[in-house]
Amino acid sequence: MNREFWFVVGSQFLYGDEVLKTVESRAKEMAEELSKHLPYPLIYKVTAKTNKEITDIVKEANYRDECLGIITWCHTFSPSKMWINGLAMLDKPYCHLATQYNEEIPNDEIDMDFMNLNQAAHGDREHGFIAARLRKPRKVIAGYWKDTNVHKRLADWMKVAYGVAVSKDLKVMRFGDNMREVAVTEGDKVEVQTKLGWQVNTWAVGDLVAEINKVTEEEIDFLMETYSESYDFATDDIAAVRYQAKEEIAIKKMMDRENCKAFSNTFQDLYGMEQLPGLASQHLMAQGYGYGGEGDWKVAAMTAIMKAMGEGGNGESAFMEDYTYNLIKGQEYSLGAHMLEVCPSLAADKPRIETHHLGIGMNEKDPARLVFEGKAGKAIVVSLIDMGGRLRLIVQDIEAVKPILPMPNLPVARVMWKAFPNLTTGVECWILAGGAHHTVLSYDVSADQMRDWARMMDIEYVHISKDTTPEKLEEELFLKDIAWKLK
Ligand code: MN
Repeated sequence: MNREFWFVVGSQFLYGDEVLKTVESRAKEMAEELSKHLPYPLIYKVTAKTNKEITDIVKEANYRDECLGIITWCHTFSPSKMWINGLAMLDKPYCHLATQYNEEIPNDEIDMDFMNLNQAAHGDREHGFIAARLRKPRKVIAGYWKDTNVHKRLADWMKVAYGVAVSKDLKVMRFGDNMREVAVTEGDKVEVQTKLGWQVNTWAVGDLVAEINKVTEEEIDFLMETYSESYDFATDDIAAVRYQAKEEIAIKKMMDRENCKAFSNTFQDLYGMEQLPGLASQHLMAQGYGYGGEGDWKVAAMTAIMKAMGEGGNGESAFMEDYTYNLIKGQEYSLGAHMLEVCPSLAADKPRIETHHLGIGMNEKDPARLVFEGKAGKAIVVSLIDMGGRLRLIVQDIEAVKPILPMPNLPVARVMWKAFPNLTTGVECWILAGGAHHTVLSYDVSADQMRDWARMMDIEYVHISKDTTPEKLEEELFLKDIAWKLK
């Protein structure tokens, strides 16, 4: 499917034909030039002068799947009562680009004609008022349209808008239920579908086992070649690896048949399966599918969405779990991993396939999994929780490091990180906010992008950063709780 954004420029008849022609030709030029620096094309649509023109373009934007969002700008003044009907019905992501065609004020040239044509400084204020008055969620980006920082911010926003489209269309396949007695992996699926669009439904593990048993040796051979190209083999138990291939093929077939982009399972319910899918889940994640362990369908969906928002539509985002801490003063780190299922998109080096005994769960045989160290770099961890009546998205800034210990007997992929503002205060803040033990860890989606996504989705956003203190956070959570109940 084509994916594009629409450039909608506001004006009015007052200035005469000549000015409107200039506005139109400049808007076209800007859309074409901007498109060279953006992940999706920006298509100039209209210089809107009437309520009807705006309403028509919004109706079209809402209806067209290929339109991921609109970007507005007012080269001249555009009286914004004419925007009310259109903006009120807009349900696509909306960015107001407050820019100006000329970079500098031309000393000799400037006269009243120039002022009539180049009045974004007050046109964009009138436009901003009506969006504020309508409580319309939107991103405001101000700056010169040729500035690389403006390009970067527009590009980031476009990726978020794509994340919105992915969310609204997302289907999640649950194999079995959530892990018994666990609270944070629960959630109101009706609320989630209403707010975020996710269709979350369950399929029997028995159906998956039947699908696994139908996979042919040729299909397995084919996938084994991909495994050999992508990973090092550090096991002699080829039968275990082939079984994972069989699981991957079956899960993928079932998901593709239903157009699902994410799945969850639980090690408590593997009835009829020899191994918990390890390598299978990891290689599916490497292809952009979301995954959540222990029936955690929320984290599965978030993984799929954040992967889609990342570089190239399958970014460095992965299902993660906070496992254990290093509390030595000056070397305070979190160690994140999972039983098996960490996405190789986080790997610093080529992952290796190993097989080990896994005591927990219903494994009859030793599951094969990818083992690797995560790479160093700035990242975030993200958790979506159900607060009862609303959803809260919690984002924490982290910095991943090369693990300070080799941990030779740890048979899983591992990522080590420094949390902000620091390990213990970060833990206090995370726990105060109710963040889950499961997260999506991402190197290429930023906290700012998640804030934009939460705004577009109309859900609560909590950011734990270098400046967060438990005192301020406690107050913020209290006030937001009241605000969201009133909303
Ligand atoms: Mn887990």
